[in-house]
Amino acid sequence: MFDLLIRGGLFFGMTGDAPRPASIAVKDGKVSAILPPGADAMAADSENIFDAAGLYVCPGFVDIHMHDERFEDPDTVQRCLIAQGVTTAVAGNCGSGPLFEKSLAARPRPWLHLSYLVGNRAGLREEVGRTDRYTPAAPAEIAQMCSLLRESLQKGARGLSLGLEYAPGASWEEIDALAAVTAEFGRIVTVHIRYDDDRCVGAVREMIRLSKENGVRLQVSHLGSMTMGHTRECETLIEEAAAEGVDVGFDCYPYDAFCTAAGSAVYDDGFVERWKGKGPECLEAVSGRFRGSRLTFGTLAEMRREEPDGLIVAHVMDREEIENCVANPACIVASDALAASGGAHPRIAGTFPRALGILRRRGYGWEDALRKMTVMPADRMRLDAGRLYEGAAADITVFDPETFIDRATFQEPFTPPDGLKLVVIGGHVALKDKKFSGEPHGSLERAPGP
Ligand SMILES: [Zn+2]
Repeated sequence: MFDLLIRGGLFFGMTGDAPRPASIAVKDGKVSAILPPGADAMAADSENIFDAAGLYVCPGFVDIHMHDERFEDPDTVQRCLIAQGVTTAVAGNCGSGPLFEKSLAARPRPWLHLSYLVGNRAGLREEVGRTDRYTPAAPAEIAQMCSLLRESLQKGARGLSLGLEYAPGASWEEIDALAAVTAEFGRIVTVHIRYDDDRCVGAVREMIRLSKENGVRLQVSHLGSMTMGHTRECETLIEEAAAEGVDVGFDCYPYDAFCTAAGSAVYDDGFVERWKGKGPECLEAVSGRFRGSRLTFGTLAEMRREEPDGLIVAHVMDREEIENCVANPACIVASDALAASGGAHPRIAGTFPRALGILRRRGYGWEDALRKMTVMPADRMRLDAGRLYEGAAADITVFDPETFIDRATFQEPFTPPDGLKLVVIGGHVALKDKKFSGEPHGSLERAPGP
């Protein structure tokens, strides 16, 4: 007897075989049989049967760029991601991942399969006392950061994340030394690049050099949000480096506004010049006292002083430019989900269905669109996820292709999408028709040893 039978949907295994009608039988956390139509009678006594007629059945989505480092909030980000079909995720991006042992202690039983990167800011600079983000770490501090990073990687951290715009003082010597340690383990460096203005092209070049000189795998994070007016140019730089054999990739979230903490260096004086005249009227507070309002220089200064953790959404990007980036065949879809002070950007609840909508409008077939959120991110992070076959972990997403679409807005960022029918994590039903099943079924994952 099987634990679960998902009966009669169109099955996307993402293993190279064409999508086909099939029923999926699950037992002991694994896909135990993929049954052709007519053969599923043998599974009719399954404990739990889900009728998937007319629906698409695919691997749970893999989100390699999200934030779950505010440990006082147990589950907001994880649950919002599950509610859009994600079953595996990587946290600690943009330099904000703590030392791995802290993540292990704080997230013993996550809702989805969760990995952590160690961040150069929260995990390393702050641990060695270099709390001033504008000054370079001293050589002795860099050596100490390297040994902390080494320990975290030994314990199972997925890689290193750099948040260079947030830590302008991070020197070449610092990131070069950290990249070398990461390379020893064959792990990946993800980066929130140094500049989000015209200097972004140079900032991408800096990272390609880092990857080349250290032989380290590199992922340039949320490209479109960093590269206003230069996204195509930056994609080309990355594509050319990859063609020369540099192991570099990029991801993007499908929104033309970014979001970060009020206190971050992004909103330091001079942003209006950097963004060619886009001023505080483009900034929307999405948490705290000013929630829902566009800012002025006065309220921005007040928010930065009083609520530095509060979130501000910057409506400064170009929709066409972002959608072109998402539609680049090399681009991985990732959410950059984050929640703080009761606020969020709608990417926390809408990224994956929204990206599917964009890709379909751009002429993508379902399988090629789904690759960008299953196989490609799983392979990039060397995660055992993103494909379904007999014996694979039963992490499964079922959606209605006619109705699956994001509903989250800047006013209501947590609204789940329509059309997501079922999410299975580790063989357990985690979500069915927008309702959670009660308890977490994920695992905190350690990267396999070097
Ligand atoms: Zn970032």
